[in-house]
Amino acid sequence: MSKIDTKFVTAGRKKEWTSGIVNPPVYRASTCIFETYQDLQEGLKNPSAKKLFYGRKGTPTQWALTEAITELEGGEGTILYPSGMAAIAGAVLALVKQGDHILIPDSAYDPTRHFANTFLKKMGVESSFYSPRAGADIETYLQPNTSVILMESPGSLTFEIQDIPAIVSAAKERGIKTVVDNTWATPLFLNPLALGVDISVQACTKYICGHSDVMLGSATANKATFPALQYGSYELGQTASADDAYLALRGLRTMGVRLRQHQEGALTVARWLESHDMVHAVNHPALESSPDHALWKRDFKGSTGLFSFVLKKGKEADSGALVDNLKYFKMGFSWGGYESLILPSNPSNARSVNTWQAPGPLYRVHIGLEDTDDLIRDLSEGLERFREQSNW
Ligand SMILES: *Cc1c(COP(=O)(O)O)cnc(C)c1O
Repeated sequence: MSKIDTKFVTAGRKKEWTSGIVNPPVYRASTCIFETYQDLQEGLKNPSAKKLFYGRKGTPTQWALTEAITELEGGEGTILYPSGMAAIAGAVLALVKQGDHILIPDSAYDPTRHFANTFLKKMGVESSFYSPRAGADIETYLQPNTSVILMESPGSLTFEIQDIPAIVSAAKERGIKTVVDNTWATPLFLNPLALGVDISVQACTKYICGHSDVMLGSATANKATFPALQYGSYELGQTASADDAYLALRGLRTMGVRLRQHQEGALTVARWLESHDMVHAVNHPALESSPDHALWKRDFKGSTGLFSFVLKKGKEADSGALVDNLKYFKMGFSWGGYESLILPSNPSNARSVNTWQAPGPLYRVHIGLEDTDDLIRDLSEGLERFREQSNW
């Protein structure tokens, strides 16, 4: 078994798909040609085999990517989706039926919460939310019809780490399926399937693609769950383009080095923020001050570039003073590219179990690959502008 950095380089690079070059070509296809009547009959017999059949079922470009992600996440197989959100929706829809109930962490990615509260509700699937720090107390949230527990660790905006093994253990006892949104850690730093989770979802849009130019999602399932996931994606007609799969493969090859640089930069900036006199708290599980540090250390092999910080006082409405004239930090939603980002965010808009309480505004930051001296100077100047604006 090769180590993960070797896998980033070798995974999915099959000779019959690359035809003697390093990367698989971009095979764009709708129609695939059957040479003989017998070829057609064989194709019809087993359309999910990794043989050209119809564009929607993929070409060697998509297969190279799904094999690579499967090798990295572990598990039986991977399905691609046109976005991370489609991967979450696809995984859930593959596992639920009318009358079921699903559990979602209070710190879930907001569009996931919205999908549950609107679309799933309309389909007759009930959702409720649980405290992301519930751990074994997940039992108190279960209902007789609970069929899926969703996890996201760390949580969006507030970065709580979940006790995945404790939740998986409660779920397994009752035949409940578990799904983890593993976008933050990526398979480099967390392997949910090795912890007993049934499906691990990646918004490949973020670190796998890594260059802020692709929308793509994946879901990787264990042996027992993969057939349902695959069936769901076929029925819903899910597909991802060969061009996007190619860009994801290209991003994946350098993910190990990129993520370690994001990790180091984020820790440097987080520690600097922690010691800043205007900062109330830094939400980053790899900091010793994090209430989840021990749990993070037990299950994760590292941390990435996204975290948040809260000011000691001030109003979010004054945020323009901080963010408008930053040189390197730009405002935008999708993180995971090479560039640094900052986003004023209010978690209370997306919480129903734990009310969000903070003395000042919260900023989510993504630390890109720039030199941290420049990033710290940029933030420092922004914070001084905010201090002045708010008569600190
Ligand atoms: C961005 C993100 C998604 C959604 O991915 P898209 O490709 O933008 O649809 C899902 N989960 C998390 C944790 C994310 O950060």
